[in-house]
Amino acid sequence: MSRKTNLAIYNHLYHKKSPLLEDNVCQYCGTKRDLTIEHIPPISTAHLFVRNNKIRFWKIIACRECNLLISDQLIPTFADRFFQIKDLLIKKYEKHILREFRTVNTITSDDIRHADNDFFRTIDRIGFGLYSFDNLNETSIQILSKVIDSYGRV
Ligand SMILES: [Zn+2]
Repeated sequence: MSRKTNLAIYNHLYHKKSPLLEDNVCQYCGTKRDLTIEHIPPISTAHLFVRNNKIRFWKIIACRECNLLISDQLIPTFADRFFQIKDLLIKKYEKHILREFRTVNTITSDDIRHADNDFFRTIDRIGFGLYSFDNLNETSIQILSKVIDSYGRV
């Protein structure tokens, strides 16, 4: 079935979820740019959960990047999608968030400024709504631990 057909059939099941921290920001990463509507579970998988009364159907605000990162993955709850997106963002932006990247590859002050901006923007997005590392995967925890270690040394 096409997304359009699924949307026509199942859209009425979805309700707006109250915002995590703020309204009008991506509920996964907190950015205000390029916002879209994300359906949880994904519209393309809605038929799998119609008779499952443990699964709630939510519409949330998500930026295009988070929305595309997790896409139609068969993860039907907001909490699980939230942590999966953090893992995907950490993996995608590993270079931005590791300090070593800046000392090895940066030469001019412009480069350093860009690296700093990338670093803080990425850290803000990963940190949005995240109160513990417990639900992240091993790789993510290792990457974030390196960040914390290198800050600890400063
Ligand atoms: Zn986002």
